[in-house]
Amino acid sequence: MPFPNVIVVDHPVIQTKLTELRDFTTDHRKFRALLDEIGSLMVYEVTRDWPVRPRPVQTPMERTTGYVLSRQVTLVPILRAGLGMADGVLKLLPDARLGHLGVYRDEKTLEPISYYQKLPPDIASTEVLLIDPMLATGGSGSAAAAFLKKAGVASMKFVCLVAAPEGIAAFHHQHPEVPIYCAAIDRQLNEKGYILPGLGDAGDRTFGT
Ligand code: URA
Repeated sequence: MPFPNVIVVDHPVIQTKLTELRDFTTDHRKFRALLDEIGSLMVYEVTRDWPVRPRPVQTPMERTTGYVLSRQVTLVPILRAGLGMADGVLKLLPDARLGHLGVYRDEKTLEPISYYQKLPPDIASTEVLLIDPMLATGGSGSAAAAFLKKAGVASMKFVCLVAAPEGIAAFHHQHPEVPIYCAAIDRQLNEKGYILPGLGDAGDRTFGT
């Protein structure tokens, strides 16, 4: 059954890179590079419906009208795995500001624990991309989205790489209006809250821990 408000970016180049990411023989150097590349590639689809405004430009030939994004952009990676994907997104949106949200999962209860928040003061008036490669239980993502709403954010998208059906359901139960962009919807979570088949612990594989 299709998931409402979930966009799977199934471009063949992204799928090829995701397959390399899943491969357990991929080391942290290659993993980081791939995550970075996929982050960049997903930007095209994630930003497709963002409004633009006209901007006059003088070409070497004549004056014409071009376009620029209407609103400032804020990237909010969820620490720490979100950092690995945010770099790639930032390459295509170099004027974006970065906020950071630190959320970890209690290993016993799997409940999100928030430990760090730092956001641009005018985040409410910007387009916000909340970034975390893995949408597993949906706990961290939902807590982060709730925090952003409390900060006044009205326009937000959740950008991940691999989503579990359980995570999508949990996130959309609390935030049905926030679109989820991912490169794959995997089968299920295991009893420890890891995605199957997944790619393991994205933070550990990114940072070599
Ligand atoms: N976080 C990860 O890094 N991997 C998973 O499979 C689930 C949560």
